[in-house]
Amino acid sequence: MKTSPDVIEAAPAADSPSSATLGGDNKRSIEQFALLLFIVVPFLALVAAVPLTWGRGVSWLDLGLMVAMYFIGCHGITIGFHRYFTHGSFKAKRPLRIALAVAGSLAVEGPLVRWVADHRKHHRFSDAEGDPHSPWRFGETLPALMKGLWWAHIAWMFDEEQTSQQKYAPDLIRDPAIRGISRHFLSFTILSLAIPPLVGGLVTMSWWGAATAFFWGSLVRVALLHHVTWSINSICHAVGKRPFKSRDKSGNVWWLAVLSCGESWHNLHHADPTSARHGVMKGQIDSSARLIRWFEKLGWATDVRWPDAARIESRRHPAEADAA
Ligand SMILES: [Zn+2]
Ligand SMILES: [Zn+2]
Repeated sequence: MKTSPDVIEAAPAADSPSSATLGGDNKRSIEQFALLLFIVVPFLALVAAVPLTWGRGVSWLDLGLMVAMYFIGCHGITIGFHRYFTHGSFKAKRPLRIALAVAGSLAVEGPLVRWVADHRKHHRFSDAEGDPHSPWRFGETLPALMKGLWWAHIAWMFDEEQTSQQKYAPDLIRDPAIRGISRHFLSFTILSLAIPPLVGGLVTMSWWGAATAFFWGSLVRVALLHHVTWSINSICHAVGKRPFKSRDKSGNVWWLAVLSCGESWHNLHHADPTSARHGVMKGQIDSSARLIRWFEKLGWATDVRWPDAARIESRRHPAEADAA
């Protein structure tokens, strides 16, 4: 089981619960605060730009397009690419299968088959050698982790080593429709960026309306969704609570729950990857699980792997055990 290299496996020893690295369960508050600032400040700056340019550079229509497109793409990724195509948390009727493939493609996170292959490899080697995007790649010291966070967040995508799609996603390649959607990634990207300015331009019958809708509904929306998705790879493998047993450093990060459509309950996800619900505890918001439930009621989704109480309990850490 533990075949990972020494760099990453040099985990905080069980006898040092107050480990000075972020790898410990006891997070250093200053480090976590710095990380939070890193994410939140640019976001707040963007939010502040809304009232400053209200009426000239942004309208209700722009915000509506931004939110709608954001959550269509986000759920396409979380329900479609991730819980369904990668992990098989439920079975989908054909039209839902296609719709999820399209919705996820609108998130502009790369072709479906590549996304799934990378993510399956991530689970296979999570935070060990072979993981395409572990923040622990360079070691456990703070500078190494800062470098690793950058790697896990963005830099890994520029790595020349590509995950083998034949090896990790043969089931998807066999389906011609899915293969086709994956191949037409560029077309879906153009469509995704074109919808907001088309709607904005037609509703306001102005070029300016098209331009502001493009800025907020296309550019800002895609950028925000990218950062939130990448944060699951970086932040949710560096900090967060770890109440469940997983062999990696995945954590539950509450403040990303809404924006990530429930994916930031990442510790549970690594402890029980096929579970259709990630936010399993009381009060843990998981909009993806809610939608899957609706799909199930409509008869579009079947064989949903809902976690029951016994299954959740069996994956919990015994009271004071160490995460390593
Ligand atoms: Zn992960
Ligand atoms: Zn996963």
